[in-house]
Amino acid sequence: MTLTRSRSRDLLAQAENLMPGGVNSPVRAFRAVGGEPVVIESASGCRIKDVDGNEYIDYIGSWGPMLLGHAHEEVIQAVEKAVRAGLSFGATNPCEVELAELIIEMVPSVERVRLVNSGTEATMSAVRLARGYTGRHDIIKFEGCYHGHSDCLLAKAGSGAMTLALPDSAGVPPAVTQNTIILPYNDLAAVEKAFAEKPDQIAGIIIEPVAGNMGVIVPSTEYLQGLRDLCTKHGAVLIFDEVMTGFRVAAGGVQARVGIMPDLTCLGKIVGGGMPLACYGGKKEIMECVAPTGPVYQAGTLSGNPIATAAGRATLEIIKRTPQLYDQIEKRSEQLHLGLEKLADRHGVVACSNRMGSMMTLFFQEGPVVDYDTAKASNTDMYGEFFRGMLTEGIYLAPSQFEAAFIGSAHGEQEIEQTLAAADKAFAKLTRA
Ligand SMILES: *Cc1c(COP(=O)(O)O)cnc(C)c1O
Repeated sequence: MTLTRSRSRDLLAQAENLMPGGVNSPVRAFRAVGGEPVVIESASGCRIKDVDGNEYIDYIGSWGPMLLGHAHEEVIQAVEKAVRAGLSFGATNPCEVELAELIIEMVPSVERVRLVNSGTEATMSAVRLARGYTGRHDIIKFEGCYHGHSDCLLAKAGSGAMTLALPDSAGVPPAVTQNTIILPYNDLAAVEKAFAEKPDQIAGIIIEPVAGNMGVIVPSTEYLQGLRDLCTKHGAVLIFDEVMTGFRVAAGGVQARVGIMPDLTCLGKIVGGGMPLACYGGKKEIMECVAPTGPVYQAGTLSGNPIATAAGRATLEIIKRTPQLYDQIEKRSEQLHLGLEKLADRHGVVACSNRMGSMMTLFFQEGPVVDYDTAKASNTDMYGEFFRGMLTEGIYLAPSQFEAAFIGSAHGEQEIEQTLAAADKAFAKLTRA
């Protein structure tokens, strides 16, 4: 298949003179995979269309939100109706109350919730709350987990086991990351050691309970339970960042799937149904520390926006009344996961696939991939080549080895088969070292 991309090319050339890299979020520039990004004009179901009229089966789903597929009729109608009633009030509206009720009903550990506008805002606020609630400063974060781009979470490990974390971006002062402790993912002994070395100083742990931002990594249940027990023992706050996994691996997120309850949960992506909406929530006792009931300040002009909450409410209502949609998505995801592994094997391509529910990553390496160090051992050049081959065949994967592919309820058996047929061709074309 040869695709014309002239209009995408023109728009990107124009965009590069207007925005850094021509994008508003770095990964969209395709720097990790090479090739030229496409400019998207519209999307429907599991398909997206670029400005040159090329159609792709979409496995990015706006980086997670589109569990129900693009432009779902019921969600669009809810948004259209809300728009007619005004775009923003800066005061409580009925829809945000109903959305809060749905979140609390569906996510087991959440008793109180605060709506915000992005995942970054949710995690930043949850960390502040953990610190304000405990009166402690240190936060444990794990290597390879992404929690948005707030200063204290843009940190990487320094040299040596327990040295101070270092800024992971220019512009972050070292003073801001010195209370962030970076530990390897999936390694309970490292967390035990940190608590032993700093008793009464650790405010909390923030973790992606299934990692998606270094590619998909599913930690052991014992590990998550171990974190829960350590936090309980030391009076620290356990924060599950379920911005990606919430309403994705199950209606109630990872916590519902594995039965381990955090103190605070961050949600984003699906909870906004494709609109800019996220939230943090958890135990009543902790959440009551947020202003105006408590001393931890956090606010937002557009928080609980009526259009965003309308999209979120419609999305969660559909999920709630059709729980069987997860079985269908699980089946399709497994079909794709096993199909890709089998095809790679048939073509002599070294690859392994990690998956939970409808999020998965095909790592170009032998595996197993269990943490950031093992993830980094992937052949990213080969992933880039595979990615470009798939795009040529009309399959839109994440433009980085270290991201998840998402399947939604709009991906049918036929689309999975079409994707596997495309993968067959893309694998065959790979250059071998
Ligand atoms: C996407 C993501 C975020 C950041 O959310 P934004 O809305 O992009 O700010 C935080 N945590 C996790 C786990 C994510 O996947």
